[in-house]
Amino acid sequence: MHMNMPRRSIIYEGKAKVMFEGPEPGTHIMHFKDDATAFNNQKRGLITGKGVLNNRISEYIMNRLGEMSIPTHFIRSINMREQLVKAVDIIPLEVIIRNVAAGSLSKRLGIDEGKPLPRTIIEFCYKSDALGDPIVSEDHIISFGWAHIFELEEMKGLAYRVNDYLSGLFMGVGIRLVDFKIEFGRLVENDELRIVVADEISPDSCRLWDAKTNEKMDKDRFRRDMGGVEEAYREVARRLGVLEESEQQRASLRAVTPGSPPRKPSTKKK
Ligand code: UDP
Repeated sequence: MHMNMPRRSIIYEGKAKVMFEGPEPGTHIMHFKDDATAFNNQKRGLITGKGVLNNRISEYIMNRLGEMSIPTHFIRSINMREQLVKAVDIIPLEVIIRNVAAGSLSKRLGIDEGKPLPRTIIEFCYKSDALGDPIVSEDHIISFGWAHIFELEEMKGLAYRVNDYLSGLFMGVGIRLVDFKIEFGRLVENDELRIVVADEISPDSCRLWDAKTNEKMDKDRFRRDMGGVEEAYREVARRLGVLEESEQQRASLRAVTPGSPPRKPSTKKK
C-alpha cells in the first residue's frame, strides 16, 4: 500500500475496527485498531499492538474454519492490520457460545465463574449500542425479523461447529475456550443466499483460559484491570504459531525439532 494512496471511504467505524470500501465490488477492507472498549463503551483504553495481534489471530482462525468447510467472509490479509473480506450484510445478532460459566451468565444466573456447563449453551444478543446489546430469545429474532427461521438454524449449526473445532484447536495449545461471540453475515454467491461467519474471532471476542493455571488470556484482563493485556494476547498468538518468531524462539524451536540439533552460536562462518 502506498503512502499517497487515495483516501478510502469508510463504510463503518466501530470501537476496535474500521471497515473500508474494498478494491473490488463486493469486498471490504477490515482494519484492526488498538482501541479497546468494554461495558458498552463506558470503559475505554488502548492495548498497544492489539490490532496487529487480532488481525493475525483472526486470520489464522478464519483460515482454519475455511479448511473445515465452514464458510467465512475472510479472503486474505493485506498487511499487519488489515484484511480483505467479502462484503456481507451483517445479521444484527451477537451469537454467544458458552462451555464454561463466566461473565454475564455467571452474574445473571448466579453460577460460579469457571463451572463447566452440563452442555454447550447458545445465547443471542440484539446488536444495539443504544439498548446495550440486550439478550433476546429465538422468538424475538424471528418475530422482529432480525433473521429468518432457516437463517437462525443455519447460524446455530455453524456456531456449534465453530465451537467444536475451536475448542479442540485451543485445547491443543493448552487453552480452554470458555466462551466466545461470533457474528454472521448474508452473502449472495452464485445466485444463492449464504450465511457466513463474519467479523473477527480473537481474544477480544473469546474467553480463553490457560488450561493448567486458569489464567485469563483475553479481554477480561482489560475489563477487570488485571494488567498484562498485551502480553496475554501475544501469548495466544505465540501458542497458535502466528507470532513472528524472535531469534530466541527460533533457537528453542530448533532445540525441540527432531533431526535439527541446536547450533552452537560461537562458530559463525563469515
Ligand atoms: N462478547 C463480545 N462482545 C460483546 C459481548 C460479549 O465479544 O459485545 C464476548 C465476550 O468476550 C465473551 C462472550 O462474548 O467471550 C460472552 O460475553 P458475556 O455475555 O459474558 O458478556 P460480558 O461479560 O463481556 O459483558
